[in-house]
Amino acid sequence: MFIYDNYIHNLLRQAEQSAESASADTGAATDAEIKKIIEKAGRLEGLSHREVAQLLMCRDQKHLELIFQTAAKVKAAVYGNRVVMFAPLYVSDWCVNKCAYCNYNSLHQFGRSRLTQEQVRMEVEVLEKMGHKRLALEAGQDSENCPIEYILECLDTIYSMKTGKGAIRRVNVNVAATSVEDYKKLKAAGIGSYILFQETYHRPTYEKVHIAGPKKDFDYHLTALDRAMEAGLDDVGGGALFGLYDPYFEVLGLMLHNEHLEKNYGVGFHTVSVPRLCKADGAIAAGYLYALSDEVFMKITAVLRLAIPFTGIIVSTRESYALRKKLINIGVSQISAGSVTKVGGYSAGLAAQSVAQFEKNDNSKIEDIASWLLDENLIPSFCTACYRSGRTGGRFMGLAKTGKIKNVCQPNALMTLWEYAMDYGSSDFVEKTRALIKSELENIGDEKIRELTAGNIEKIQNGQRDLFV
Ligand code: SF4
Repeated sequence: MFIYDNYIHNLLRQAEQSAESASADTGAATDAEIKKIIEKAGRLEGLSHREVAQLLMCRDQKHLELIFQTAAKVKAAVYGNRVVMFAPLYVSDWCVNKCAYCNYNSLHQFGRSRLTQEQVRMEVEVLEKMGHKRLALEAGQDSENCPIEYILECLDTIYSMKTGKGAIRRVNVNVAATSVEDYKKLKAAGIGSYILFQETYHRPTYEKVHIAGPKKDFDYHLTALDRAMEAGLDDVGGGALFGLYDPYFEVLGLMLHNEHLEKNYGVGFHTVSVPRLCKADGAIAAGYLYALSDEVFMKITAVLRLAIPFTGIIVSTRESYALRKKLINIGVSQISAGSVTKVGGYSAGLAAQSVAQFEKNDNSKIEDIASWLLDENLIPSFCTACYRSGRTGGRFMGLAKTGKIKNVCQPNALMTLWEYAMDYGSSDFVEKTRALIKSELENIGDEKIRELTAGNIEKIQNGQRDLFV
């Protein structure tokens, strides 16, 4: 396997020792070294494992400030001021696993449910009326109550729907680790990214918190994204559940996993998610010792942005409105909005009996989130163009690394935002959007792209939809 516990522990130990010895004398050597590492990251060159470990051990406020400022610059250089919006859709809470941290663990007694296709339609109708274009489909693991065929049926239903002018145009899928054959089926169904969190890269902790069930097999879970790649799913997303084990270990685990995918399949994670362990009433007590403060969580997010500058970073409603605001400025590029984390929760069809997978800390509506993004001079983006234009995997990364992706992302973000404003925005929101689009158009350097975008904005105003480059 490609996760070496001793290697990661040694890196962290050495970085800790060097930080300690530096603070014992003048701190000058480490000061220069840290600045050099941050400068390298600022040039979008990524970071070595040793450099990541050194940044993770930073406690000095001036170093942390420099990390945050540089992460903000890296994010601006790669993503501009766009923030991609999505919502989760829970279709089934049946699960045969006993994951200690999760409300859906099989020991938790509650009335489990799986949406009928009619209920999927009801849920999607609500999401489309909210203006969402991108979903993350979520389900527990249960091959009898929720087989892959059921997931395929849901995908079919979602993609076939249209509510008013709204439609879901990209469905990312977060279902249990499975076989190449099943991943091929998901690929054929036209999913966006396949997302699977490793939860923890620390094998002993993984085995402790996954008490029983197929997910207990660390190696099978760890190699799931390899099988997805082999099946042709080249946009894959990873993540760790921060709080299960040493968060710095998890960051290096993510680095090793990403490099393994790059080495073997030519492309690493399309996205990395940074969920933090949250309250879940039906969870099994497992004595978590690694709860991390907001400050450490911010440092981790910023270091990830520096280490893997071209990978999207996703933060969910596990985090509060106030913290998500800060995280967006230091590296997060995708956020969920208006989320419901239980089966049937959007249309309230099953909400009374179902249970949320975890407790949310941000209950803001999509329009409130889109509105504060505008107030911060950020662009809420509803774009789903890349995978529909075949810009996935290595092709996407190639464009991102040469900076060319901006020529498609920025116009698409503006067009989809205008579409959202026209179809779902209040008059105040429309005016704010109009002002932002005016100034953003002026910032598009390439004349042809600027004209094309302005022309499409006009077409959208006149009723055309789903325009993208
Ligand atoms: S984390 Fe996933 S696999 Fe584990 S109990 Fe929850 S739903 Fe099931």
